[in-house]
This record gives sequence, structure tokens and C-alpha cells, in this order.
Amino acid sequence: MPAARHDLIILGGGLAGGLAALAVKAARPGLEIALVEPGAIGGNHLWSFFESDVAAADMALVEPLVGHRWAGHAVRFPAYRRSLGGSYRTIESEALDRAVRAALPSDRILARRATAASPVSVTFDDGETMLTGAVLDVRGLAEAPAGLWCGWQKFVGQMLTVPAGHRLDCPIVMDACVDQTDGYRFVYCLPLSPTDLFVEDTYYSDSPELDATQLERRIASYAQAQGWAVSAVTRQESGVLPVLMGGDFDTFWPANDRVARGGVRAGLFHPLTSFSLPDAVRFATWLAKDAPLDERLGVAARDYAQQHWRRGRFDRLLARMLLRAADRPQRFRILERFYRLPEPLIARFYAGRSTFADRLRILAGRPPVSLARAFAAMMEKK
Ligand SMILES: Cc1cc2nc3c(=O)[nH]c(=O)nc-3n(C[C@H](O)[C@H](O)[C@H](O)COP(=O)(O)OP(=O)(O)OC[C@H]3O[C@@H](n4cnc5c(N)ncnc54)[C@H](O)[C@@H]3O)c2cc1C
Repeated sequence: MPAARHDLIILGGGLAGGLAALAVKAARPGLEIALVEPGAIGGNHLWSFFESDVAAADMALVEPLVGHRWAGHAVRFPAYRRSLGGSYRTIESEALDRAVRAALPSDRILARRATAASPVSVTFDDGETMLTGAVLDVRGLAEAPAGLWCGWQKFVGQMLTVPAGHRLDCPIVMDACVDQTDGYRFVYCLPLSPTDLFVEDTYYSDSPELDATQLERRIASYAQAQGWAVSAVTRQESGVLPVLMGGDFDTFWPANDRVARGGVRAGLFHPLTSFSLPDAVRFATWLAKDAPLDERLGVAARDYAQQHWRRGRFDRLLARMLLRAADRPQRFRILERFYRLPEPLIARFYAGRSTFADRLRILAGRPPVSLARAFAAMMEKK
């Protein structure tokens, strides 16, 4: 077995792995880091976030990657439309790929597939085992992760070319004025240029099955209904993301599993929105500045993830309310009510930073669904 050439090997060059590599390289330039990623770094993604999701002190990590930004955003529900002031930003995965390749020497980006890891070694699919000072496993979430009780947020997004212009000047993060099939359905629109528009058809659903062809047809119908004459589809992405209703952290990440995890593999995502960018930034900053980059990293990363799990308790309760307290066609009423709340509260919710007072405010008053079912959903456990 060759002697350790690296101080840290990061397994997986997705969002979390890419940001971890950038943050550690910037904070501890003397360390030898390797990133193992068999495909393109970042894959094929547009990652969006609210400015308020990321602490001002951490913004330097993501700001150079941001390709699009807007001063505000909007929501549409059957009962009302609302414009909100929260600034919105989008990163294209190609920007993460370029930044990581500029930060790490090319021989430290290993286009290989890892098959096993210990706290201080990685084994590849050709049988080679490499020793290292520390390992971070950010290979994404397993398909059916043990210990998680989930519903699903599933979607297809397409980049549409609208030569005559779409006339949207800010993102619509939820347009729920569409047929409510297969759970809570909304369309998400990102105007990336006057003629380029990213449109995503999204469902909060009980099942992970995704009929991409049907969703593509619904995007086309939505565009037609808005009066957008589409000349081309230049990009497509799809996702089936877990909406976390409950579970058991010790089953998800047993205490005797000492390999450090990060990203969605460590459960570092928002339980209700499934978005992970804010947590990926916070984790990368912690890793670079505070984590022990040696064989103790696994225990420290598990403690970090467990704290995140505890903080997510209220958001898991809201996920149960959304998916369990209302019949599918009525689920939109929960978000319709939520978006009437004050903007700073909404911003803290998305950032995963709701205060105790926010929680009381969110739950106060009569729910827009059956009281008995709302109470049963709040109490439900699995
Ligand atoms: C289409 C889509 C759009 C999304 N949009 C947003 C958004 O706008 N905002 C937001 O906050 N979140 C978004 N999310 C949710 C979440 O942020 C992403 O899923 C995010 O990419 C998760 O990052 P990650 O690095 O933890 O995992 P992943 O991005 O899944 O990265 C895992 C990486 O590990 C690599 N890998 C897997 N197996 C191996 C192996 N054996 N050896 C080596 N490498 C391996 C994979 O190739 C991959 O690159 C989106 C998700 C999807 C699917």
C-alpha cells in the first residue's frame, strides 16, 4: 500500500464536495487535497438560493460562482400574488467545475470511482487502496437511505428559448395556479436572460416515480398558457429529492460508522425544501476552519450532522403537515397560508434558521386544512 500522499481525500465532486475542496484549499493552502469524481464536477445542475440563506461571512465562497442574481422574487397562489424583496441567486454547475479545476492541481482531481472507505483510506474499483490523513464521503444520498421517513419533491426543469421575450423580470419561486395533480404542484420560473427562461414543473408527492415525458408536456402547456412561443429547449434537469418527515438519526448514521460524511449523504439539507446549498456552504466553512482533518473527522462530522438533525425537528413536522394533513388537491393551501407571513420569517425558514417565535407564528391560528388531521400529522412518528 503506498504511503499517504494526501492530507484529505474528498469522495464525490458534487455541490458539497466541490465547495469543501474550495473552502479547505482557500483556508489551508498547504494541505494536499484530492477530489474523487468520476463525472463532471457538480454534474448537471442549476443551484439557486436566497442571499439570506448564506451568512455574510461565508458569501465569499459562493459569490464568485454566482451566474445570475435578482433583487427580488415572487409567488403566485390561486388566492393572491406576492412580490418579495429577498435577493435570489443561481449557480450553474459548470461554474463550480471551472472553480475547482482552477483551485486544485489537475493530478489531484481523480476521475475514478471509490468502492469503499475507512477514516484514513479509500479503495477504488480497480482494487487500489490509497492512504490519506482524512476522508470526507460526499457521494450523495443512497437511493433508499436507512432511517429516513420521506415523501418526495420531484421535478423536471427545462431551459426554454423564447425569442419574442418572456417579460418576467424576477424569479417566480412558486406558481401554484396550476392543476393540483400528484400532490402539491407548482411551476418555478427563472428568467436567466430576456429570452432564456428556466421552467420547472414540481410536485410534493407521496411517491418517487417521475414520468419525465408527462412533465415535459406540462412545461410546454404552461409556456403556451403564458403566451411564450418557445423555439428551443437548451438544457434539461430532473430530480427526485427526499422531503423529510421523520426518522432516526442513529439508524441513518450509526455511531460506529467513523467515515466522515458531508452534503446530502450526511442529511445536510432542508427537510422541507430538500435544498442543500446553504448547508453545503456552512459545512464547507466548518470543515475548512474548525474540523480536525485527521482520523477524528468522522466523529466530528457526525456530531455536526446530528446537531443539524436536531435543529430540523420543526421543519420535519411542517413536512408532515404538508404531506399528511391534507388531501393532495388541498396541499397548496398550506403554502398559500405560509406565504402570507412576514418576509423576514419566510427568509429565516428557508435558511433553516426559524426562531421559536417564528415557529409559534407559523402554527398559530386555524390551519387551512382539517384541524384533526393537522394534529394527527404533527403527532405522527415513524
Ligand atoms: C436537478 C436538481 C436541482 C437542484 N436544485 C437545487 C437548488 O436550486 N438549490 C439547492 O440548494 N439545492 C438543489 N438541489 C438539491 C441539492 O442541493 C443537490 O442535490 C446537491 O447537488 C446535493 O449535493 P451533494 O454534493 O451532497 O450530492 P451530489 O450533488 O449528488 O454529489 C455527489 C457526487 O458524488 C459522486 N459520486 C457518486 N458515487 C461516487 C463514487 N462511487 N466515487 C466517486 N464519486 C462518486 C457523483 O458523481 C456526484 O458528483 C437540486 C437537486 C437536483 C437533483
